[in-house]
Amino acid sequence: MDCKSRALFISTLFFSFIHPALLSTHPSNEVNLLDSKASQGELGWMSYPSHGWEEISGVDEHYTPIRTFQVCNVMEYSQNNWLRTNWIQRQSAQKIYVELKFTLRDCNSIPLVLGTCKETFNLLYLETDEDQGSRFREHQFTKIDTIAADESFTQMDLGDRILKLNTEVREVGPVTRKGFYLAFQDVGACVALVSVRVYFKKCPFTVRNLASFPDTVPMDSQSLVEVKGSCVNHSKEEESPRMYCSTEGEWLVPIGKCLCNPGYEERGSSCQGVRWGGGGGVGQPPATPCSRPPSAPRNVISVINETSVILDWSWPEDTGGRRDLTFTVLCKRCRVAQRPCEPCRSNVRFLPRAAGLHNTTVAVADLLAHTNYTFEIEAQNGVSSQAPKMRQYAAVTITTNQAAPSPVTVIRKDRTSRNSISLSWLEPERPNGIILDYEVKYYEKQEQETSYTILRSKGCNVTLNGLKADTSYLLQIRARTAAGYGASSRSFEFETSPDSFSISSESSQVVLIAISSAVAIILLTVLLYVLIGRFCCHSKSKHPDEKRLHFGNGHLRLPGIRTYVDPHTYEDPSQAVHEFAKELDASCIAIDKVVGAGEFGEVCSGRLKLPSKKEICVAIKTLKAGYTDKQRRDFLAEASIMGQFDHPNIIRLEGVVTRSKPVMIVTEYMENGSLDSFLRKHDAQFTGIQLVGMLRGIASGMKYLSDMGYVHRDLAARNILVNSNLVCKVSDFGLSRVLEDDPEAAYTTRGGKIPIRWTAPEAIAYRKFTSASDAWSYGIVLWEVMSYGERPYWEMSNQDVIKAVDEGYRLPPPMDCPAALYQLMLDCWQKERNNRPKFEQIVSILDKLIRNPGSLKITANTTSRPVNLLLDRSSIEVTSLDTMGDWLDSMRTLPCKEAFSGVSYSSCDTLAKTSAEDLKKVGVTIVGPQKKIVSSIKALETHTKNGPVPV
Ligand code: AMP
Repeated sequence: MDCKSRALFISTLFFSFIHPALLSTHPSNEVNLLDSKASQGELGWMSYPSHGWEEISGVDEHYTPIRTFQVCNVMEYSQNNWLRTNWIQRQSAQKIYVELKFTLRDCNSIPLVLGTCKETFNLLYLETDEDQGSRFREHQFTKIDTIAADESFTQMDLGDRILKLNTEVREVGPVTRKGFYLAFQDVGACVALVSVRVYFKKCPFTVRNLASFPDTVPMDSQSLVEVKGSCVNHSKEEESPRMYCSTEGEWLVPIGKCLCNPGYEERGSSCQGVRWGGGGGVGQPPATPCSRPPSAPRNVISVINETSVILDWSWPEDTGGRRDLTFTVLCKRCRVAQRPCEPCRSNVRFLPRAAGLHNTTVAVADLLAHTNYTFEIEAQNGVSSQAPKMRQYAAVTITTNQAAPSPVTVIRKDRTSRNSISLSWLEPERPNGIILDYEVKYYEKQEQETSYTILRSKGCNVTLNGLKADTSYLLQIRARTAAGYGASSRSFEFETSPDSFSISSESSQVVLIAISSAVAIILLTVLLYVLIGRFCCHSKSKHPDEKRLHFGNGHLRLPGIRTYVDPHTYEDPSQAVHEFAKELDASCIAIDKVVGAGEFGEVCSGRLKLPSKKEICVAIKTLKAGYTDKQRRDFLAEASIMGQFDHPNIIRLEGVVTRSKPVMIVTEYMENGSLDSFLRKHDAQFTGIQLVGMLRGIASGMKYLSDMGYVHRDLAARNILVNSNLVCKVSDFGLSRVLEDDPEAAYTTRGGKIPIRWTAPEAIAYRKFTSASDAWSYGIVLWEVMSYGERPYWEMSNQDVIKAVDEGYRLPPPMDCPAALYQLMLDCWQKERNNRPKFEQIVSILDKLIRNPGSLKITANTTSRPVNLLLDRSSIEVTSLDTMGDWLDSMRTLPCKEAFSGVSYSSCDTLAKTSAEDLKKVGVTIVGPQKKIVSSIKALETHTKNGPVPV
């Protein structure tokens, strides 16, 4: 460090006391492997080179000495300063957490350092089986993350001697060797590392349901560790006690329990000798003086879902002085005019059962639609049967809703000609409401659904016109009620008449009528083709209640829209930049703080004030010092591309700075950052319409890009930015480089980096990137949005994802996902790329949903629909699996699989009725696994209802 920067450093970084936040205590489920604050002597960490990191003493507010490390070589280029901890023993940790507290100097506040000063440093680690002493090799370390400050501090903060501390925590795992080192690589920042704490999490010793559970170290992966409890003294197992230790070090899903032995009663978490005659333990004789039947259950809640209901209640206020409580639910069907109510039909299902319930919840299925039911819930104990007059129950009355219609099963061919087929069908056996219309989908058998046509008909008949002569067609029909679409019928096959012209009628009169109809049909067909040709996709048939929609046509470039120019086609790329981007004067830009780190340098927020214009907030991407010519070209290529676009849902380029250093790209500022982290931060906080509004914006931006002929290739929620009005804009433009610096991108066997989970199969297999492959990625973004930033395919490996998608599996609907949006996802994930909707169609579908918000109420699990789900392999019949465990095993990827292995769910059906609330009740409180369990359960529910249908 030269004298100037050292002086600057000392004046701004050295401090005499630390903010009290430093002294915070740590949760009891964290076990420290290293805590730099605990050491009052020299830590003796290795610093390389010697003029880099320095160990310095400080004191906390109690004037207790602490050790810190600092570096501030901000005036010099090419800094590479390493600080390595001593060897840290792993103990029993599987995943470790690194908590860093540090202060970082804001480069803007240091004069004359633009270009050399950095505001980030790197955190790395190296696993070894033994202490390597002073042996140190940079390349052996693996990067954990780039660390940036949330709060840079300025001179002003020093006025009151309080520094703003940044706290960052990173996870590393699985760790498997005997120990490890951490390293901090500085590349030219002014940073003080105030404390480093390394810890792992454990589920601490606890007693639950009179069973004790030992200290348990969680697994690194998302799966839970099952732990068997031991009954406390003077108690015995009633049902084998178990709990699950989560990766977060929390105990989840207590199952089973111990009960105090006779003569002992439960006090706190132990069993103690009974002090008075009665009450107390289970197994007491019914006549024990203090025993009586319990009072009625309280707070009964019903949640109706079509024709099933989940009932939930609280324990009675008075348990009758006993602990052997169970619940019984009685179902009665009540018609207004007919009293008293009659018992429910025997086919009504109770899950898990109607009597002897230990839990305070039950699901009742297979009720009739639009019917009033009363449920009487009684708490019972060992003396209930002896005192029938004292028995009390709680009652709740509900009215069931509509269910989606059952499939059409009978379809008849009425007439056939060379170019048309007339069909009629019978209403579904169970319409479950008024049928609004039918959707008829048909396609040429040979085309194998690569191109299909959809008609809607209000009645039970339809004529398919404009068909090819002597050709087989396949057709499916599904009915729609206010509850949504029912399941599709099976495929029916029909053939048109051969060219030699024949018709099905025997009478010559009918022949004549048929000829004139055929002529009329041909004329009409010609007219239709003209209309289709003019309007591309939409046309009206002769019946006003029939609408026709074609999928699978080629891309249509609209006249009058500019096309995108690849900047790499310019001989001199800097010419491209200046053609598409405005050169800004660096003096018009003020940098405020670092908001992110990109491959080429830091991303900052700041302000741009152009002469005679209002000051605006901007994001500034900088090109780090020491760049190569190629890096500069690639960096500026993004600006050359962005500068060609002008759309409210595409990130807007304000300009570039290329004539002074550092080189910068200045864009509009998006206050809420990238969409994936924004959604994760606001889990479950938006209305359906808000989410669809965001999705509509993304689709509109993508429509613009595809009209321009630009293929994005890396469309993902992380590459969408959100502003303060929730407007989403597509960002991250570039050519090969976009994929090079996307951490999600992986190398494929054919070379090249591809973000596998977001990419269409043909793009992975043979790099066929088109707007149709962007549509696939859009489907994944749709899934990310509806699941509030969940990782697509969770922790499945890239190879497993490729294989599963290729075999026809698709992601299941996110929790509470509207059916229409899930259908749109499935359409985007059509294997045949020409069948995927165009962005124009996606925008129009979303517009319709926004105009008709009621349609969002039908969720994917309540509407019958083609089952087309990942984790729902068509080759596995759920019913053919011997146990729940087999089924869970077949899902392979469910992180909480083990959470169910001990639950007393006895069948798929029981599990299928489990809601998020139910899971909360049994203690699954982590959002990720919870959503995933529910999605998977919903997948199962649909599977068992409809049977598997491969894509
Ligand atoms: P990028 O290099 O474009 O992936 O940007 C890295 C990170 O910087 C992003 O994930 C955002 O958090 C942030 N960022 C980039 N551009 C902007 C912007 N225009 N407004 C706000 N934050 C941005």
